[in-house]
Amino acid sequence: MLKAYPADLHIHTCLSPCADEEMNPANILNMAKLMGTKIIAICDHNSAKNVKPVQEAAEDYDITVIPGMEVESAEEAHLLVFFEDLNTMMEWQDYVYKHLPAIKNNPKFFGPQQIVDRDSNITGEEDKMLISAISASAEEISQRVLKMGGMLVPAHIDRKTYSLMGQLGFIPADLEISAIEISRNVSEKEARRKFNIPDKYSIITSSDAHRLKEMVFQKTFLYIKTPNFVEIKKAFKGVEGRRVIIKE
Ligand SMILES: [Zn+2]
Ligand SMILES: [Zn+2]
Repeated sequence: MLKAYPADLHIHTCLSPCADEEMNPANILNMAKLMGTKIIAICDHNSAKNVKPVQEAAEDYDITVIPGMEVESAEEAHLLVFFEDLNTMMEWQDYVYKHLPAIKNNPKFFGPQQIVDRDSNITGEEDKMLISAISASAEEISQRVLKMGGMLVPAHIDRKTYSLMGQLGFIPADLEISAIEISRNVSEKEARRKFNIPDKYSIITSSDAHRLKEMVFQKTFLYIKTPNFVEIKKAFKGVEGRRVIIKE
């Protein structure tokens, strides 16, 4: 039996320097609960260090947390990356960290990059500057993610900056992508027409929340059997009736 699960697959935590410090596990999960969101993905810039604490805190909620990351490719395009389990996600993080420029974050200028525990206590700060492009191209990232069994979703492609469309002007046909994300500023219909998105790609829209109040933007529904990575992958491919619906 397929069921509609409200999903928001692009939420930042206080690890992203540009996100508000209120974006800790407790606040994110309480906000998701309030919104009725059943599946969330934590996608911080170039790091996944706060995925585990949110997953652990979610044990007390009826909410599934998918490991994710918003990677910035060498072309300065933001790409969402998802993996089924935390171990593979952390393996992916090693790859990203190896390709990050060796620059330290300036918390006073860019904002702190807080690492938290499941109880939302701050346990440390990431000192690598996370908001920069890594030295791997979108093509290299897509190949690597595919090999590791993950999913790649170009983020907010309608945005003029930091998107694949904004940087390249097109979505390379040979890129292995699972779905495409549009921002809240455009409808699915409009995006498909304007950016000539082939029907084979499912489209999702996410809050890209950097602040709690931005999590109210939730209109993607995944028609799947159970809330997990494998089912989401099938929904993106439209396997046996599974699908993604954006409610305008
Ligand atoms: Zn982005
Ligand atoms: Zn983002």
